[in-house]
Amino acid sequence: MNSRPVRVRIAPSPTGDPHVGTAYIGLFNMIFARQNGGSFVLRIEDTDQTRSTKESEEAIYRSLRWVGLTWDEGPDVGGPFGPYRQSERTEIYQTHCAKLLESQHAYRCFCSADRLERLREEQRRMKLPTKYDGRCRELAAEEVSSRTQSGDPFVIRLKTPDDGITVVNDLLRGEIQYENTQIDDQVLLKSDGFPTYHLANVVDDHLMEITHVIRAEEWIPSTPKHIMLYNAFGWEQPTFIHMPLLRNADRSKISKRKNPVSLEFFRKAGFLPEAMLNFLAMMGWSMPNDQEKFCLDEMRSQFSWDRMSLSGPVFNLEKLEWLNGLYLRELPVNDLKARILAEVFREELVTEVVKLIQERMRRLDEFVPLSSFFFTTDVQTPVEQLVPKGMDKKLAHRVIRDLSEHLDNVTSWKSGNIEAVLRAYVDSHDDVNIKQVFMLSRIVATGRSASPPLFETMEAMGKALCQDRFRRALATLRP
Ligand code: GLU
Repeated sequence: MNSRPVRVRIAPSPTGDPHVGTAYIGLFNMIFARQNGGSFVLRIEDTDQTRSTKESEEAIYRSLRWVGLTWDEGPDVGGPFGPYRQSERTEIYQTHCAKLLESQHAYRCFCSADRLERLREEQRRMKLPTKYDGRCRELAAEEVSSRTQSGDPFVIRLKTPDDGITVVNDLLRGEIQYENTQIDDQVLLKSDGFPTYHLANVVDDHLMEITHVIRAEEWIPSTPKHIMLYNAFGWEQPTFIHMPLLRNADRSKISKRKNPVSLEFFRKAGFLPEAMLNFLAMMGWSMPNDQEKFCLDEMRSQFSWDRMSLSGPVFNLEKLEWLNGLYLRELPVNDLKARILAEVFREELVTEVVKLIQERMRRLDEFVPLSSFFFTTDVQTPVEQLVPKGMDKKLAHRVIRDLSEHLDNVTSWKSGNIEAVLRAYVDSHDDVNIKQVFMLSRIVATGRSASPPLFETMEAMGKALCQDRFRRALATLRP
């Protein structure tokens, strides 16, 4: 067992909209740290340079703060183990990787992307697990140095043991064994000198003196690779705790196709942060007396890992609404009013909406009917309306599905970027025209065939609300 002071972390990658799963894992990390007088670290894992964005990083801070998480160390608050953003630690990973080369735990691999692709294809055809065949493991030292000197691109791979097993010891699950021959010679450093997730994650957890790695179940298959790295470096392993995945009602892994998953959506839909955290605390964990409504202090005083159940907790929206209702109804009226003004009628949103609808107003009280769809998630558009003239149900479904996927990837939710997605879609599809696609998008987003200018409207509504409208429309049209 670990006798060092408890230090835990969450390590989100800033590649999209902050996910409810991040808040879930963050909550358990924070409670465990607080219960043990330890530290809770937020580390930004932005080694994927092409997918990481500043907007997403900012949204992570904003959403996690809103839901009520507080961290002791992180890129935004500093701390003694910084920098806490992996893109600022590249040299640290390179130095550590060089040590593994020196101790012969790692090797340079010069295989081309082409060769690796052919290898994978061959393995797939033979129904073998796809993994590197180790060709560059045995290169002679002279060849390695001459190819390195002549500037041949290479990656650095870990030399996994040829035989034996690696045991993952998970606090909740016990021992999980892996045959070493099943494990790939993972890439540690890419040819551009940037680290992979595995290397950066292990080096940072070690240097940041993390004692307990508490993360989602989906990372279990990476853990034997991490353990091999700890062994190669000669470092002590942290305690591993893999939390159950949140699930949709049909037991599949929670996904944005079936459920809202972005924290921004829950905020927009008017969930109270205290209800959110209470609900997330019940995902797999329960109070000793099975009490359902409890606050963070109560959770902390009762928390223990042996009350975790591993049978995938269902993220049940109705239950969340029920709980949220309990919290809402006990708020003093003035407090509730203040929250409605702050969250539903947010000052900047109201200003944007007034600007957008002014042109269509004849009386002040028309503000309410003209703008209601900006302020509520409760818009349900009937099938007939979702199929505009010149389209059939199947085509409308396909267009909405495709557009929602493209819109998911818009990181900077600005009218120009939204418009570009719609126009690019029309340009690359012969069976739809611009008028149809704009009309369909308007109906899906606003529930109406007449609205203020579409792209500005979608920008003001915000991404989370727009995505929810697309998800609802798809559910309504599902073939
Ligand atoms: N960057 C990983 C993520 O996006 C971190 C996983 C871990 O906690 O090790 O969740």
